[in-house]
Amino acid sequence: MTGELVELAKRRGFFFQSSEAYGGVSGFYVYGPQGAALKRNIEDSWRDRFQVQEGHREIEAPTVMPEPVFEASGHLDTFDDMLVECPECGESHRADHLIEDNTDIEDAEAMPLSEVGDLIAEYDLHCPSCETPLAGEPVEDFNLMFETDIGPGSGHPGYLRPETAQGIFVEFPRLKEYARNQLPFGITQIGTAYRNEISPRKSIIRVREFTQAELEHFIDPETDEPPLHRVEDVEVTLYSAVEQNDDDGDYLRTTIGEAVEEGIIASDWVAYYLGVGQEWYERIGVDMDRFRFRQHLAGERAHYASDCWDAEAEIDGDWIEITGYAYRSDYDLSKHDKYSDEDFTIFRQYDEPKVVERATVDPDMSYLGPEFGGAAADIAEALQTLAERDRTAFDGDVVTVEADGDTYAIPVEKTGFSVEEVKESGEHIVPHVVEPSIGIGRVLYTVLDHAYDTDEIEGETRTRLSLDPEIAPTTVGVFPLMDKDGMGETARDIAAELRSHGLDVVYDDSGNIGRRYRRQDEVGTPFCVTVDYEGLEDDTVTLRERDSTEQVRVAVDDLPNLIADLRSGERAFSEL
Ligand code: AMP
Repeated sequence: MTGELVELAKRRGFFFQSSEAYGGVSGFYVYGPQGAALKRNIEDSWRDRFQVQEGHREIEAPTVMPEPVFEASGHLDTFDDMLVECPECGESHRADHLIEDNTDIEDAEAMPLSEVGDLIAEYDLHCPSCETPLAGEPVEDFNLMFETDIGPGSGHPGYLRPETAQGIFVEFPRLKEYARNQLPFGITQIGTAYRNEISPRKSIIRVREFTQAELEHFIDPETDEPPLHRVEDVEVTLYSAVEQNDDDGDYLRTTIGEAVEEGIIASDWVAYYLGVGQEWYERIGVDMDRFRFRQHLAGERAHYASDCWDAEAEIDGDWIEITGYAYRSDYDLSKHDKYSDEDFTIFRQYDEPKVVERATVDPDMSYLGPEFGGAAADIAEALQTLAERDRTAFDGDVVTVEADGDTYAIPVEKTGFSVEEVKESGEHIVPHVVEPSIGIGRVLYTVLDHAYDTDEIEGETRTRLSLDPEIAPTTVGVFPLMDKDGMGETARDIAAELRSHGLDVVYDDSGNIGRRYRRQDEVGTPFCVTVDYEGLEDDTVTLRERDSTEQVRVAVDDLPNLIADLRSGERAFSEL
């Protein structure tokens, strides 16, 4: 089916490879007129569900960020895929994918490099391009970030962001001010992310530039709870890590409420967003018989995630990750707090001030200075950190501290160590982050694939996309039966009127009416309006529904509101 869908996508302007005039380049795609409209509608629907309905706010950050951001975030060190290069043709391949594609092993991504190298030899895997054996070829880490220089020269390296999330985390010190230093609050962003994938494939499913829609929900892990009751009855299909590791493992068909109660989903927050997500995928037309939430296995989790579930859709027998739901804990904000000069904490006010004991030091610098020279200041700082962390270290006559990689023994009497009682009104905490991270392109491909269908109409095979009216690129096609006797003008007036109500409308008067319907069925237009002779007499039109091909006669004056209601789901065609 992929072939037919990709052919349709290209022919009818959903998506196609970019720069084909110059031979094309792998992993970069253009969304054509249909695709861009569909993508925009999916984004609007996502924005409505994950942002507006939840009371979150959206930002737009740059796509290029300086190197220190990615040193702090861990992407420079760990955002790697496994690469194996063919010694004969020089083609690069993703080593873990070679194994997953050619053996029964499903989670090669989670394995260490050496094991992956051994498996390539054990299964005698060959280069998919030229069939040369790959046994013994080195398997190496390849960092997926695109590097660039900011400004002339090479003094300021930058990277195209590999996820939109960092653009939110880095701005947390300002964003928390807008939230008046109150948790919880959520920030969303829809924008491009870039990953220099080793082998882009499956058209828009694995590309090097793609659109992410991410929500970063900042919470106080001790006091904030999600409104679980809103999604507790939502039914889900779960594939937990335990079930994946079990030879007889199976899906669990349950509700969000039960999954939380039974501890299958550890985090209430992740569970909440799985529920929100489930409702949204259904709303935009993902086939629920070809959909599941799969928990990450321990070795598979991203460097920042403490629990992660993927929303996966079945496409041509493969399960494709369309969204990652991660509990990122305080990983990102702690890192930026440590690496930058800004404060990434939030002040958590106690209900009542607390009297607490605080250990402090007041080191005798007239001793530390002469004794340790340049290291004295760092030693004093290390003593304070140690006093806060482990005051028993000061119990003896001598305390041992590490500073700048060296160990120093300091007489306790020279540290000015003391324990005082102080009144505190609150404490600084690093918020935790819950993140649904959606790949819009993959969701778009999924809804197209799940909506693609063929049937027989009047002895002819028709191809149709049963897209949900909310996301269909065009909501209504308007046709005159023929462009004569005033039917053309009336149809053009109706099209203009519908457009003025904000609806996506196509006007078409070429070819016979059946062909025009077929043209719209193929791009998923849910409704078509036809002006005929009868309608000229009594100001009515026929309104046809795509999937059933049924038609009803409706008054022209009612059309704008009726179609808007059909699009939003307020009314159903079958009730007309
Ligand atoms: P990740 O940060 O890897 O969990 O990715 C978040 C989401 O972005 C995934 O669920 C995918 O939908 C999407 N995504 C990741 N990598 C790609 C890619 N190379 N091409 C298209 N979409 C991607």
